[in-house]
Amino acid sequence: MDNITYPIKGACQCGGVTYELLEPPLLVVACHCKECQKLSTSAFSITAMVGANSVNFSGLMKNWSRSADSGNISAAKFCPTCGNRIYHYNPDEPDKIKLKPSNLSDTRIINPTLHVWVSEKQDWFKIPEGVKTFDKQPQ
Ligand SMILES: [Zn+2]
Ligand SMILES: [Zn+2]
Repeated sequence: MDNITYPIKGACQCGGVTYELLEPPLLVVACHCKECQKLSTSAFSITAMVGANSVNFSGLMKNWSRSADSGNISAAKFCPTCGNRIYHYNPDEPDKIKLKPSNLSDTRIINPTLHVWVSEKQDWFKIPEGVKTFDKQPQ
């Protein structure tokens, strides 16, 4: 298998929002919480933690936010045309971006080494061997 080369281009489903990921993510996490099940319309969501300087976005995005279990604000950017979620962030930590990486052109990076909120995961999903798990959000 070829090595993953950067930058990797990403785009929402309609192509209205595009971006470039310039370097490898710091961490790739699967979250099994109910909010992420809704978000992904699946059993869990995958997030790539990246520095804000590691990604260049173009195109118009809409903003939505909610209070997270931790008390932090979980803010989200999404494409107003196709609704594809692009990234999440905490407004108090603007240097960190929680990229929703499944719309990158090279999806080999969506290989989580950490699974969180496994207390809410679907019973049929078996956690792969060799990954770290947390019942809820790690502190
Ligand atoms: Zn779109
Ligand atoms: Zn979650």
